Amino acid sequence: MDKIILIRYEEIFLKGLNRPAFEGQLIKNIKKVLNGLGQANVSKAQNRIYVVPEFEDYDIDEAITRLTKVFGIASVSPAVKIETDKQLIFDKAVQIAKDIVNRKQYKTFKVETRRADKTFPMTSMEFSRELGGLVLKNIPHLKVDVNNPDFFIYVEIREFTYIYSEIIPAVKGLPVGTNGRATLLLSGGIDSPVAGWMIAKRGVAIEAVHFYSYPYTSERAKDKVISLCKVLSRYTLGLKLHIVPFTEIQCEINEKCPNEYLTIIMRMYMMRIAERIAEKNGSLGLITGEAIGQVASQTMESLAVTDSVVRMPVYRPLIGMDKSEVVEISQKIETYDISILPYEDCCTVFVAKHPVTKPTIEKAERYESVLDMEKLIQNALDGTDTIYIEPPV
Ligand code: ATP
Ligand code: MG
Repeated sequence: MDKIILIRYEEIFLKGLNRPAFEGQLIKNIKKVLNGLGQANVSKAQNRIYVVPEFEDYDIDEAITRLTKVFGIASVSPAVKIETDKQLIFDKAVQIAKDIVNRKQYKTFKVETRRADKTFPMTSMEFSRELGGLVLKNIPHLKVDVNNPDFFIYVEIREFTYIYSEIIPAVKGLPVGTNGRATLLLSGGIDSPVAGWMIAKRGVAIEAVHFYSYPYTSERAKDKVISLCKVLSRYTLGLKLHIVPFTEIQCEINEKCPNEYLTIIMRMYMMRIAERIAEKNGSLGLITGEAIGQVASQTMESLAVTDSVVRMPVYRPLIGMDKSEVVEISQKIETYDISILPYEDCCTVFVAKHPVTKPTIEKAERYESVLDMEKLIQNALDGTDTIYIEPPV
């Protein structure tokens, strides 16, 4: 079978000694996402990765849909791979041009040749010109447009020759697994899935923690978070989700602490519990979807208080973003439609009537000192359920 997929990754990350580790992880991740599509050989050559299916019925379109979500991949092209033989290349390229013109109403084209095999007896320019002429002869109504063609025919002459017409952009970033692990505080809202996606994009493996307040929040709220994890897991290559019961803590805070500090003390508990889980799973940091000033619990003062209860670095990739910018990303990564489904979040069950916007660490600590912190945290950890979420197929 001559149909293959050509995968490009960006050189910029590849300087120095990390390069083999980067490429090795990328290949591993590619094999993982293509799992279930059938036998295919995945291998690297000349700064490219090639997926070569063994059978005709391999679903190239589905493979490409999955590959465009793999961090570290810059772009992909469905291509044909043939022997480097001039006549063979000409015949195949003309055939490809005919197929394209039959499917789409294209009127103009351009041939672009890259010749990595310098023993090939023609220059790239000569080859493009001759092939262009041949295409024109075979498809009479077609014209060449070198500036703004309707479609390209790309020919890469190497040990083998690759011909393709499309360069499909992928997510870029770095391969998940090349940059440690972090634990994401994942609500059912718009922000935290985007925050997790952004950190995973930099090569970080992710685990998620969700706090729920059964029976105040329904099974549906939990299902919503699981649906979000499924979408995220396409990018993170599977995802562990820790579901932490939070009702006891919220009731205690609600009963025993000043109402204006309710949200901030709740946030302190979330951070502490997430840090305990993170330590156990080997995470090097926590991730939240906070942005400065978005709500009372996200003022500079509030963030300082939330930060003060953990030692681990807290990554807040949305910190300087406007809501509309976050929404744009959540639409692009396909979490938005799930995030906007109506649901009760544990944060909306007990709400401070007038939440403090300038909390201090001293007051927060004083107000929460009436609680049996260790016991509350231990109960929550004991009640935690962990599930592993596979990417949807
Ligand atoms: P989001 O859209 O992510 O829910 P938000 O703007 O609603 O964020 P908050 O509700 O104040 O903001 O939550 C701030 C951050 O705290 C969230 O981005 C998330 O990281 C974490 N968080 C909030 N609620 C939960 C929850 N139920 N489980 C896990 N993490 C949570
Ligand atoms: Mg929220």
